[in-house]
Amino acid sequence: MAIPFFKEIKIGGYLMKQKLLGRKRYPLVLMLEPLFRCNLACVGCGKIDYPNAILNRRMSAQECWDAAEECGAPMVAIPGGEPLIHKEIGEIVRGLVERKKFVSLCTNALLLEKKLDLFEPSPYLFFSVHLDGLKDHHDKAVSQEGVFDKAVSAIKAAKARGFSVNVNATIFDGHSAEEIAKYLDFTTELGVGVSMSPGYAYERAPDQEHFLNRKKTKKLFRDVFALGKGKKWNFMHSGLFLDFLAGNQEYECKPWGMPARNIFGWQKPCYLLGEGYTKTFKELMDTTDWDTYGTGKYEKCADCMAHCGYEPTAADAALANPLKAMWVAIRGVKTEGPMAPEIDLSKQRPAQYVFSSEVQKRLSDIRKEEAAAAAEKAAAKAAKAEAAASASTAA
Ligand code: SF4
Ligand code: SF4
Repeated sequence: MAIPFFKEIKIGGYLMKQKLLGRKRYPLVLMLEPLFRCNLACVGCGKIDYPNAILNRRMSAQECWDAAEECGAPMVAIPGGEPLIHKEIGEIVRGLVERKKFVSLCTNALLLEKKLDLFEPSPYLFFSVHLDGLKDHHDKAVSQEGVFDKAVSAIKAAKARGFSVNVNATIFDGHSAEEIAKYLDFTTELGVGVSMSPGYAYERAPDQEHFLNRKKTKKLFRDVFALGKGKKWNFMHSGLFLDFLAGNQEYECKPWGMPARNIFGWQKPCYLLGEGYTKTFKELMDTTDWDTYGTGKYEKCADCMAHCGYEPTAADAALANPLKAMWVAIRGVKTEGPMAPEIDLSKQRPAQYVFSSEVQKRLSDIRKEEAAAAAEKAAAKAAKAEAAASASTAA
């Protein structure tokens, strides 16, 4: 997901307003997942391992618009699954743009070129194309050859049609700083902005061996940024978030900054962890025990440095200390010297494994809904037959 923080005056204005209103927790980006179905099966993906009854579900366009209005965040990122599989995706995006939401449509780009006609270029719309590295690396990460070439061709086609395009990379262990630097050079040549996030260790991802821990993440990003000195890589992140990735800031996660809404409802506590769902955004904000999540508080958060938890913290830090943010922007990210102290993990609460029971609950809800819809349909059919029978008796 590529979100140009602070590049848009509207976002800055929104942030200032929240501060002036004294709000402690407020959303910046709604992570909207209208479906989980995807046309790829990447090894590091924690989103597509659901039974078919769930993969076949979609949020309707109206549900998507209602979620955006209910949440109130100025930006909506649409990951998935693969959003371009959704039959109403053009309508969903159009409705969000009409509501003056910045939309970042995250796609693996397999269908992008074919579906460009569904969209209109707008300053409110960005395509954020999943591109984990250069050709060999990306095709391996998505477990399919040829995907890199298709994605690059779609990026060029979208740009030629006047769309804003960024790329997003999930970084895993084993991706060297030199390769990442070459990839970043390539994105500059391609003329696209880039967002990068260390892969979150989803408990359901098929490949469990290549997730980075925090120590390795910080070292890797320092090495990458050192190779980038003097280059004009176009990151779609705030400077302080990049500084955090390089170990120069120690931030607490703010999961409410990027709340997630999907076919199950509002997800507790964040886009990465599904530990319960609520019907409304207000209920999510009011009933989630936020203080029990984050690095040092919960075992599942120990290695997380993902943008959805920490970019909102970096945004807050920049508002609180604009001079520091400006300093990092001017001087670049520090790549040498001592790092900020690590968060103590000794008191974190143990992980709770609630995924299977949550899926079972959702499946049973889906079956009840389907049974109720079938009963309603049968009753309507019976009533129609009865009406027809009495009409013919009367005749
Ligand atoms: S493209 Fe995205 S949603 Fe699809 S399998 Fe890969 S990581 Fe998962
Ligand atoms: S640290 Fe924050 S963003 Fe990361 S998994 Fe935990 S709650 Fe989610």
